[in-house]
Amino acid sequence: MRQINHVVGGKTRISTGRSALVFNPATGEEIATVGFADVALIDEVVALARSAAAAWGNATLAQRTSVLFRFRQLLLDHSDELAELITQEHGKTHADALGELSRGIETVEYACGLSEHLKGSFSSQVADGVDVHSLREPVGVIVAVTPFNFPAMVPLWMTSNALAAGNAIIVKPSERDPSTTVRLAELLKEAGLPDGVFSVVHGNADTVMTLITHADIDAVSFVGSTPVAQAIYQAGTAAGKSVQALGGAKNHMVVLPDADLDVAADAAINAGYGSAGERCMAISVVVAVGDIADELVDKIATRTDALRVGPGSDPASDFGPIITGHQRDKIADYVIQAPRHGITVVRDGTDLCSRPGFFIGPSLLDHVTPGTPAYDDEIFGPVLCVVRVEDYAAAVRVVNANRYGNGVAIFTRDGNTARLFTKQVTVGMIGVNVPIPVPVASYSFGGWKDSLFGHAHIYGPEGMGFYTRSKVITTRWPSASESQIDLGFPRSR
Ligand code: NAD
Repeated sequence: MRQINHVVGGKTRISTGRSALVFNPATGEEIATVGFADVALIDEVVALARSAAAAWGNATLAQRTSVLFRFRQLLLDHSDELAELITQEHGKTHADALGELSRGIETVEYACGLSEHLKGSFSSQVADGVDVHSLREPVGVIVAVTPFNFPAMVPLWMTSNALAAGNAIIVKPSERDPSTTVRLAELLKEAGLPDGVFSVVHGNADTVMTLITHADIDAVSFVGSTPVAQAIYQAGTAAGKSVQALGGAKNHMVVLPDADLDVAADAAINAGYGSAGERCMAISVVVAVGDIADELVDKIATRTDALRVGPGSDPASDFGPIITGHQRDKIADYVIQAPRHGITVVRDGTDLCSRPGFFIGPSLLDHVTPGTPAYDDEIFGPVLCVVRVEDYAAAVRVVNANRYGNGVAIFTRDGNTARLFTKQVTVGMIGVNVPIPVPVASYSFGGWKDSLFGHAHIYGPEGMGFYTRSKVITTRWPSASESQIDLGFPRSR
């Protein structure tokens, strides 16, 4: 069986010791093993990153930009091959894998503008003969811990800006689909990145905790589920690290009575079932406002009947399997238990669970209410819940009472209400007639409430801010004749 190895100091390091199996979710077959880094290897990789960071942080802006430009081109040249790797281990369709890659490449393109993003500022004559300027320096060594559901895009979110800013970065990808990150390391080396600046170590929870609390690590970027994000934030900050930890989600799509219901139903299908619902920005709750619920549910249900569920490598598939059999069974349980909570199962996708591989079909649950497991938990599968409310105000109350605040969408033709909605909801990323409002790379990505622990959103300007530290320098060149003794506090007027 294939073995997936670490990348340490620019070289492959055979992974030995404790390990996990990697599956092809479309067949259920074991296709690889991935060994976990032990403490000695973590010490080694951090030491190599530390010494590489010193040189890389001192490389000229032009040198760093050249590497990122070449990396971008290599990602484009190898997109199909990378997408195949993603499909094989994650299960998503080839088209969807290309989609996540293109959004990851966007963040590399943003980082290519590093000479602009890293500019400091200068103020002349802030006091007599005194100037002030600021500059941004790299933080040092970053640890990046990534989830299974975007094996290329999320590592790229972190890597692009971290490298642009002059840091070394150690990525610990999900042990369920780790090969893509290893391939990214190879492409970065080919792009001319010096050895040790980008490393990959594999592992589980123990590996992550050893890494993020390591004495020689400066900052931690994490993306994954909420309980783990919270634990990482607490452990990382207690160890004195700067931490951004993005967590899970339960994204609502509010449909107002004036919306075009065909447009809304298409959007609910795309955002609810795309990638088998395994997206942190997937729509998992449709909030039907007023008397449109019956018609809207009917339109969504009819559309689910046309969805084709199959291997991600088959161009005819709309969505592929779930990452593991265990996760597939957990998802099925929410559908099976739904009637016990007064929920109507309009479409039941659990029939597909008997197929080889980790498949489950699209499910549609109606008359779902807060307080039921299907509503309260992040199911992270192809299960769309419909919550019925009387009016706009009730819809906003539902959205704001939810513990998560990653994404939300409103479907309406009323610009005024849409504008009000963007002001009233306690959610980080909002779509107006856009169901998956993942910001472009020149903005930053991040939720509110239990969807983010820490202050900095990821990529874009906030990402660049997270991977740099600022200095402010006040300068004066006095002549000996101007010099005097004055014990007062320095004043500018
Ligand atoms: P996960 O939290 O199980 O794992 C994420 C990473 O943390 C993996 O690398 C894993 O090895 C590691 N890990 C797991 N348990 C750990 C523990 N106890 N201590 C330390 N490290 C641990 O998440 P997942 O199942 O891989 O990914 C799906 C989750 O990620 C969903 O909740 C989804 O909403 C979330 N997600 C969020 C965003 C976002 O931007 N907010 C983006 C993508 C995914």
